[in-house]
Amino acid sequence: MKYRSSRGGVSGLGFRDAVKMGLATDGGLLIPHEIPDVSDKLASWTALTFQELATNIMAEYIDDIPVQELALLVDKSYVRFDHEKITPVVRVGDFHVLELFHGPTLAFKDIALQFLGNVFEYILEKEQGHLNILGATSGDTGSAAIEALRGKSNINIFILFPEGKTSPVQEAQMTTVLDANVFNIALEGSFDDCQSLMKTIFSDLSFKQEYELGAVNSVNWARVLAQIVYYFFAWYELGKPETFDVSVPTGNFGNIFAGYLAKRMGLPINKLILATNRNDILAGFFKTGVYQRGEVCFSESPAMDIQVSSNFERYLYYKLGGSGVKVSEFMAGFMQNGMARLDFNTRGFDESFQAGSADDAETLATIRDIFEQEDYLVDPHTAVGISVGNRFRTAEIPLLCLSTAHPAKFEDAISRAVPGLVPHHERLEALKGLPTRMEKMGAEVNLVQAFIRQHGLH
Ligand SMILES: *Cc1c(COP(=O)(O)O)cnc(C)c1O
Repeated sequence: MKYRSSRGGVSGLGFRDAVKMGLATDGGLLIPHEIPDVSDKLASWTALTFQELATNIMAEYIDDIPVQELALLVDKSYVRFDHEKITPVVRVGDFHVLELFHGPTLAFKDIALQFLGNVFEYILEKEQGHLNILGATSGDTGSAAIEALRGKSNINIFILFPEGKTSPVQEAQMTTVLDANVFNIALEGSFDDCQSLMKTIFSDLSFKQEYELGAVNSVNWARVLAQIVYYFFAWYELGKPETFDVSVPTGNFGNIFAGYLAKRMGLPINKLILATNRNDILAGFFKTGVYQRGEVCFSESPAMDIQVSSNFERYLYYKLGGSGVKVSEFMAGFMQNGMARLDFNTRGFDESFQAGSADDAETLATIRDIFEQEDYLVDPHTAVGISVGNRFRTAEIPLLCLSTAHPAKFEDAISRAVPGLVPHHERLEALKGLPTRMEKMGAEVNLVQAFIRQHGLH
C-alpha cells in the first residue's frame, strides 16, 4: 500500500515513510492510495484474538514491515492492557458499550499510541535514526504519549503542559514517569501558550532538522490505522449482526474516521453516529454541509473541546472525489473566512452519518441515569456518545456506543452527576505519593529550545 497527501503534493510513500512524515509536507494529511475491500475475508477472521485480527487488518495497509515482525509489534503494543480481550464489549441495558479504556492511561488514545510508539522504535532501529518528540497537552494526550514512548531506544519525549492547569490525576500520570528519556515541562501560562510555543519551535526549520523533532499528534496515519481494528473486533464480539449502528464521541474526528474506513472496507456498519459536546462544528457540518468555526467552550468532556478537527480533511478528500485541488481550496477558504461549504442534496449530506451534540446538563443526566438504571458508570465523553446515540437508535438495529475513557479519570464530573460517588481505579490510586520529576520554566521559546539542546538526542 502506498500513501498520498489529501492536497495532492505527495504520493507513492510507503507506510514507514508515511509514519515518519506525520503531517504531509504540503500541509495535507496522508491517506492510502486505496481502501482495501475485506468483505470476503470476514468469515475467515472469525474467532481471532484482538491481536491476530489487528495484524490481519494492518497487513492490508502495510507492505514494508514483514508480517511476522508486524505481529510482534502488535503483541508488544497490547501487553499493558488490563483486559484479556483488549477492547471488550459489554451489554448495558438495551445497548452495547465497547470499552476502549483498558490501556495504561485509561483512555482510548492508548490503543493507537502504544502501537505508534513501537512502530517508531522499529523504524528508528532499522534506519539507525533518532527522534526528539515534542508535544503540548492540556491533559490526556500527554500521558498517553509518554506511556507509549517511555524507555524506548533512540527517542526522547518532551511534553509541555500549563503548570497547575491540568487535573492532579493527569499531572501525576505524566510526572511520575521517571524514565530517562521522558521530560515533562510545566510552563507558566495557559494551554494555548504551550501550543503556540510548540508551533513556533516546529516552524524553526533548522532547529527542527538539527534535533529531528517529531510529533505524535492525532494526524499520524498509524494512529488511524490502529483504531480501525476495534470496529471489526466489536462486530465479532456482538455475534456478527447483519448490521449495527455505532455512536462515537468526537473531537478531532480521528476515532470516527477509523470507523468510516472500517465501513468502506466492508464491515456492515449501518450508521456512524457522530456525537459532539457544545463544540459542535462537526455536528453542524453533517446536518447542513457548512463547516463553520466558533469559539471553543469548556465542557465536562474536555478532550472534545475542539473546534477545528485535525482529521476532518481526510474525510473531505473522499467527499471531494479525491481531488487535492478541491481539498486545498476548501481548506484555504475555511482558513480565510472561518467557514466553508459543501453542496449536499436533499437526501442528506452523507448517508453513512448521523450527527448530534449533547450539552453538559444532558451529559451529566446520562451518567446519572445509566448509573441508576443499569448500575454502570460511564465517563463524560462516553456519556455524550450515549446521549446522541440513543436519539438516533432504532428498535431493530443493535447500537454500539464507544467508551473512550475510564470514569475515574473524571472524578469531578462524576461527583457532579452522582453526588457522593467517587470513582476509583487502582492504577490511579497507585500514583499517589510516588516521586515525580518535571522542569518548570517560563513560557519562552528560547528557554524551551535551550532545554531541548541540553537534553535532546543528537
Ligand atoms: C481524544 C479523546 C476523544 C476524541 O477522540 P477524537 O479521535 O479526537 O475524535 C474522546 N474521548 C476521550 C476520552 C479522548 O481522550
